Amino acid sequence: MMGTLPRMLKLRAVLGRHQNLCWNFPSQALKQQSCLSSRPGLLLGSSWQCEVGSKRHHTEADRPKPAPAAAPDRLPFSRITEEDLAFFRNILPGRVVTDPDLLESNNEDWLKSVRGSSEVLLRPQTSQEVSQILKYCNSRNLAVNPQGGNTGLVGGSVPVYDEIILSTALMNHIRSFDSISGILTCQAGCVLEDLSLYLEQRDHIMPLDLGAKGSCHIGGNVATNAGGLRLLRYGSLHGTVLGLEVVLADGQVLDCLATLRKDNTGYDLKQLFIGSEGTLGVITAASILCPRKPKSVNVAFLGCETFEQLLKTFQLCRGMLGEILSAYEFLDSECMRLLNTHLKLTNPVHCQFYIVIETSGSEPTHDEEKLHNFLEEAMTSSLVSEGTVATEDSKIKALWSLRERVTEALAHDGYTYKYDVSLPVEELYQLVTDMRERVGGRAKSVVGYGHVGDGNLHLNITSQAKDPALLADIEPFVYEWTAKHRGSISAEHGLGLKKRNYIYYSKPSQAVALMGQIKALLDPKGILNPYKTLPDDQKP
Ligand SMILES: Cc1cc2nc3c(=O)[nH]c(=O)nc-3n(C[C@H](O)[C@H](O)[C@H](O)COP(=O)(O)OP(=O)(O)OC[C@H]3O[C@@H](n4cnc5c(N)ncnc54)[C@H](O)[C@@H]3O)c2cc1C
Repeated sequence: MMGTLPRMLKLRAVLGRHQNLCWNFPSQALKQQSCLSSRPGLLLGSSWQCEVGSKRHHTEADRPKPAPAAAPDRLPFSRITEEDLAFFRNILPGRVVTDPDLLESNNEDWLKSVRGSSEVLLRPQTSQEVSQILKYCNSRNLAVNPQGGNTGLVGGSVPVYDEIILSTALMNHIRSFDSISGILTCQAGCVLEDLSLYLEQRDHIMPLDLGAKGSCHIGGNVATNAGGLRLLRYGSLHGTVLGLEVVLADGQVLDCLATLRKDNTGYDLKQLFIGSEGTLGVITAASILCPRKPKSVNVAFLGCETFEQLLKTFQLCRGMLGEILSAYEFLDSECMRLLNTHLKLTNPVHCQFYIVIETSGSEPTHDEEKLHNFLEEAMTSSLVSEGTVATEDSKIKALWSLRERVTEALAHDGYTYKYDVSLPVEELYQLVTDMRERVGGRAKSVVGYGHVGDGNLHLNITSQAKDPALLADIEPFVYEWTAKHRGSISAEHGLGLKKRNYIYYSKPSQAVALMGQIKALLDPKGILNPYKTLPDDQKP
């Protein structure tokens, strides 16, 4: 790092010639920061909408017109008995939780928007224990909600009614790491940040990174096919997960825990479970291809006045940074206002749009030269008006926190309506502008941020409290808008409970019907995460 400093000073000097360029890093301001009863599941603060019962076709004319609706009815699963509890206590001594106070946080999602009423939390340590649990639940027709770090944002991670919560929290053992191939094999309950730290000590990194890394589990990441901040560089988990071990609904252990990069022996079954949100099986272990830790990392935090400039900067940056570009993220000035107000983070630059550019490479001098040339070009062509660059770890983290902590700032702002859409990149911000115009003063804040490099927008709207009139303004408008612009209504968060019935906006009915058949094949009784992902007209 010391070696890179003189070069960065030089870079600063050259770029500092340009008007408005701010290279002062405000480090101070950027501090890191029984026959048990069950009651119906609650949707807190949200009258989410769904359409039950009818199959739809994927055409504009026949697009579902969702109407506000209550939670789905409880399906006819068995209710847990004292005999069931005795069975679980026998196979998981000391790891069956029934104390309502201890269950509280497992019943409620991170956003505090949905809450179930499970009265049992099971904490297995091994795949064999998971197998025993599912075999028993399947025979008894007991519904099960797999849960990782409970950071999911679509209501998939918590029960709707009295489903048994199967937590992977104690399945946190790293099985092996091969430093030659970079292949890590670990249990599903390993926390993403712990894996990152483990790998960093071995000169490698995880191929994914996200704001919830301190809590989310790798099993949850795989189950949601989490995208995050490194997807631009390392691709999705569909590419980096080499193998999975999954326990099926009937308790069979499907051992597809390969550590091979190439394996064309028939269907690639593990892909089915990546992004299946706990509806097809419980992921108990994963093997993942991990990149080498880059020798040089630089982060530039830049400001633009228009979204068009931000896109042109992206184009320029792809051309000039090429293989060292590892992230291109953005947030708007409304996000920055919330970061300032609620988390007391200060912006290093003042503009309408902010870009976080990360480069990762193996040769500091080469990388800095490329970054320098790019920044000079971006400044001279007036695409970027202000910016700051960090090469030291603490400063890199501080700059990243401005992007990573937007979700947290929103949670402080009020009740949050969250949308996570994929769109052609040139239309990404128009949705925010249109939504702002549509909801006017009824919303507290309407903000846009996300992964520009992946064409992924996070549109968030906050209000003081739950507001059905505001929701009616937002939905189904947001889904119709997205479908009309050839986007996906869920880029990376999944469908969970909240979005399951909107799937037809993004998938043709034949594809949804095939999903239903796959579910029926793997989980004929539908015990795994019922009420989630599949629309109500496709439940077994
Ligand atoms: C601050 C913040 C930032 C975030 N940033 C991003 C981001 O950049 N990109 C992104 O994609 N997401 C992001 N998320 C959403 C969330 O963190 C991810 O969806 C994450 O992958 C969920 O992991 P988890 O362990 O918390 O899973 P949970 O929330 O516990 O579960 C999520 C879903 O996976 C299922 N599941 C969990 N574990 C298993 C298992 N072992 N087997 C089968 N099914 C399982 C659950 O049933 C549920 O349907 C963010 C969330 C927060 C709070």
